[in-house]
Amino acid sequence: ILVSLLLMVVTAIFAQNSGRIPAKGLAAINNQGEFEIFEFTRRPVGDNDIYMDILYAGICHSDLHHVYEDWGKTEFPIVPGHEIVGVVKEVGKNVTKFKVGDYAGIGCIVHSCGECEFCKQGLEQSCKKGMVITFDSYDYGHDNEVTKGGFSNNYVIDEQYAIKIPSNVEIDKLAPLLCAGITTYSPINFSKVKENDTVAVAGYGGLGHLALKYMLSLGAKVTVFDITEEKRQDALNMGATHYINVRNEEELKGLENHFDFIISTIPSAYDPLMYLRMLKLDGEMAIVGLPPADEAPSIPISGLVFSSNRKVYGSLIGGIPETQEMMDYSIKHHVFPQVEIIPATPEAVEKAFKNVLDGKVKFRYVIDMSTIK
Ligand code: NDP
Ligand code: ZN
Repeated sequence: ILVSLLLMVVTAIFAQNSGRIPAKGLAAINNQGEFEIFEFTRRPVGDNDIYMDILYAGICHSDLHHVYEDWGKTEFPIVPGHEIVGVVKEVGKNVTKFKVGDYAGIGCIVHSCGECEFCKQGLEQSCKKGMVITFDSYDYGHDNEVTKGGFSNNYVIDEQYAIKIPSNVEIDKLAPLLCAGITTYSPINFSKVKENDTVAVAGYGGLGHLALKYMLSLGAKVTVFDITEEKRQDALNMGATHYINVRNEEELKGLENHFDFIISTIPSAYDPLMYLRMLKLDGEMAIVGLPPADEAPSIPISGLVFSSNRKVYGSLIGGIPETQEMMDYSIKHHVFPQVEIIPATPEAVEKAFKNVLDGKVKFRYVIDMSTIK
């Protein structure tokens, strides 16, 4: 009996490992933001892979940009989602970082060459061969399959790209850290924002409210810029020193040479020079917002030259080691996003996309993927 039981178990494991894994997701079917339930399969769990059931997935403005074809053409259908938390259900035989039952996170990067100077430094976002993004990206490490993102019920990923999450956390709040968190944490770190610095965040949405919280956690004095009155009280309640509605010119006066650091998360057209002029000498401005290609702002050379000795740079998410550092830091310092949980239905996601565009979300939608039917 024992032998036959063992055989059954081995056969079951073999069947699961040799076959592809059925998955169900929410796919955008066109650039109008219409979604449908979509069934597909994922690769079998390899020796270095973990297989996880997705619990929650955040909706980032980058998902919207992809779906609305703001940055270029998209081949529909796509399953978006790159702010993912879940629970590990199976591990490959070489896996050491995770065991079954652990929480795990997935951000934007699911593969990279692993060999170039950037990968070796843990800067996979700058991989010379290109990083493989969590969704709608050709995975050159795995038969060039097009990746399907976190608006789905499971994921298979090399453990190297997955983030460890302890078990004693409110897991429903964590997903947005995997993109919005690391994208703001990384430049704040890079620019060495510190106690008593006078700093600012432009664009007070999913990324912006986390930037505010990280900079407050470091003891900086933070001004928030946005385009609406609706979020003034939220910013002040969250601890901002000032809130500036950029549509009200009066409020913009007297800010020249004012900030040590500014981070811009603005996802649409704006004037970066306006912010550059607000930097102190030696001040730094990090740009992370990625407006649509046809309205992407530029900085006139003369404006840059006359803003002498102020620096502006771009920043793309962050590498895997820094993402782990961000996760640990966020939990230790209680930097958590303010989230609104929605069910995993096409209707709910379509409405959420519209609300993000209309500035009606405070501050991040998170899809409860366990509710997908
Ligand atoms: P959200 O839509 O959640 O937040 C954007 C915020 O910017 C909103 O509060 C919006 O106002 C505000 N805003 C819009 N226009 C202006 C303006 N002219 N001046 C000031 N504020 C403005 O987006 P996310 O936070 O999810 O993403 C922000 C951007 O960052 C996107 O372009 C996204 O693609 C990009 N991104 C970049 C990454 C990177 O690695 N560099 C990674 C992740 C995202 P309102 O309140 O009206 O909505
Ligand atoms: Zn994102």
